[in-house]
Amino acid sequence: MLTESITILKGIGDKTAEDLAMMDIHTIEDLLFYLPYRYDVREIKPLAELEHNAQVTIVGEIDAPPQVLYGRKQRTVFNVKIEGAIVRVVMFFRIHASEQRLQRGTVITLTGKWDAHRLQITANSFKLGIPKSKVEIESLYTVKGNVTMGRLRSFIKQALKRYSDQIIEILPESYLHTYKLPLRGKSVEILHFPANEYTLKHARRRFIYEEFLIYQLKMHVYKAKRRTRRKGSPILIDDKQMKDFINQLPFSLTDSQSRSLKEIVTDIKSENQMYRLLQGDVGSGKTAVATISLYGVAQAGFQGALMVPTEILAEQHYESLQEMLGSNVKVALLTSSIKGKERKRILTELKDHSIDIMIGTHSLIQDEVLFNQLGLVIIDEQHRFGVEQRRLLLNKGEQPDVLHMTATPIPRTLAITAFGDLDISTIDELPSGRKEVLTYVIKEQLLDRLLHFIEQKVNEGDQVYFVSPLIEESEAFDYENAIDLYNKLVQFYPESIKIGLLHGRLKNDEKEAILKQFVENEIQILVSTTVIEVGVNVPNATVMVIYDAERFGLSQLHQLRGRVGRGDKQSYCILIAEPKGDVGKERMRIIAETNDGFALAEADLKLRGPGDFFGKKQSGLPEFKVGDPIEDFRALEVARRDAIDIIAENKLNNDNAYRYLKEIIQNSSLEQFD
Ligand code: ADP
Ligand code: MG
Repeated sequence: MLTESITILKGIGDKTAEDLAMMDIHTIEDLLFYLPYRYDVREIKPLAELEHNAQVTIVGEIDAPPQVLYGRKQRTVFNVKIEGAIVRVVMFFRIHASEQRLQRGTVITLTGKWDAHRLQITANSFKLGIPKSKVEIESLYTVKGNVTMGRLRSFIKQALKRYSDQIIEILPESYLHTYKLPLRGKSVEILHFPANEYTLKHARRRFIYEEFLIYQLKMHVYKAKRRTRRKGSPILIDDKQMKDFINQLPFSLTDSQSRSLKEIVTDIKSENQMYRLLQGDVGSGKTAVATISLYGVAQAGFQGALMVPTEILAEQHYESLQEMLGSNVKVALLTSSIKGKERKRILTELKDHSIDIMIGTHSLIQDEVLFNQLGLVIIDEQHRFGVEQRRLLLNKGEQPDVLHMTATPIPRTLAITAFGDLDISTIDELPSGRKEVLTYVIKEQLLDRLLHFIEQKVNEGDQVYFVSPLIEESEAFDYENAIDLYNKLVQFYPESIKIGLLHGRLKNDEKEAILKQFVENEIQILVSTTVIEVGVNVPNATVMVIYDAERFGLSQLHQLRGRVGRGDKQSYCILIAEPKGDVGKERMRIIAETNDGFALAEADLKLRGPGDFFGKKQSGLPEFKVGDPIEDFRALEVARRDAIDIIAENKLNNDNAYRYLKEIIQNSSLEQFD
């Protein structure tokens, strides 16, 4: 049986079982559905058919033994002879002593990125000799402990042999037929040991559809559950009072703000629980809309909570809310630096409802924080919080209304499909009178001129951000780059210009301290490796310089650019980049020309490589085992339509062909949607 423990397999003793348990593999079924995260496809083609910049595999004969070169990065280089031509090989790692077999005349198979113009391969792996078949597909797994990929593969092979005929089909036959999807058991086999790319593609397609369909079904079930009436009394927002409040603000709302606010207020007044996402570019006025909503809720006798990811943001929001709300409403701040007597007082006032609106960081979800009639919960930069943290906050009230806010523009079509359970409000315009940030793409050669320009700006009283990317796999390297950059700036500028360095190895309070100095203009130039992704508001900062800009996603670049242009002075975003391929050049052109986040997001989608550009973590999109909501967007749409259909016709209950799907939905937890 599939539910049997994996220890029934040969070669799996207690020790190995423990390692596998760390990978969440306990039963045969867990093992069979432990899928590769990636495939290495090696297909040998003639040189003439190799695509420029593509990942390729070539076989050649070593012409001269490898040499190790030392430079900015260590490299091993050599030449191989293929079809009579000499191809240069570059590898960004050293050849081990044991690889001394790489003599002249040795036949070697290399996999890596192909440069057709220079006849050069940047190889990331190699094997001696000629591969067994023309196409080799290797599945790659995440492994832990003493379980190597090789051992894992052998366990999976064993399990497939004995149990694959027990994998039942859960999709109704009509779908398999309509979409020409292979059977479940067969597909599992293919995903582990694909014979060629064609069958692999279809097996993946099957599982992508399956997991999207299940996700969409669960989402609808959850939505139906949430759509039940709110407990407690309704929140009676007074329209007249709201209008008066909005009229006395120092600005008038943009059309998008008014529309979003109306949607939110309508939801709050209704008897159903609100569950809404408010998205809009940085500076588009989301916080203003949130503040007005909180005002309405407070006037109606309810409390509101606003949770933000960092202390600095909490403080900034606290100040701007107080300013907007004046003495009408009592606002308080709770962060981990608020301690002792003051903390006690705030907690008491919250409990006895002297406080109307509570702003804070994760501090808000602690047990000691007790609300009194919590009516509205707003979560800023929602993707920065885990499901559990968001739920803890919601549980502080009785089904309070919920508003998530995000500055990551997600194209509407995609958002509806991926977050189908959320209602969405979008602010797609900036308040009038804002000056557009001027964006320039320059080469590093022009750095000196840029530094002079910056000095001039600083002398005029402005502040400057310098961002250099931190990409996880080369953290140490990036870290050094940022320090180099920092040192260069310190040397270049007179001492009167203060420069700060913010990087990922600092502790949270150290980071906050540096940011604070920047906010207070004690530092004029801030060098940062960590993306300053959260919405710190320093209106005095007018220049954003981004190093190696081609390594960021468009959407991330746009977020960073949003850090400037917040005051009334002209602001600049300077991208230092030397994009190589056509796509890279195109991306730089688009970011320089487009200031609209949604248009950029659409462009990002079209240019492809979304997992790459978008940054999965940034987007807050749900994560799947096989599918990717952006890459496989079409499948997601199809699954969504089918799910709506299934629910509308109540097929889960009425039609026997859907019994397995029903079982899965019933037995699964819906927590992921909270
Ligand atoms: P977001 O939260 O989307 O980044 P904010 O609500 O913080 O944007 O607004 C950014 C700045 O613009 C704030 O200083 C705010 O007071 C101001 N602002 C908001 N709405 C308007 C508007 N309609 N007209 C002019 N200024 C506005
Ligand atoms: Mg904001």
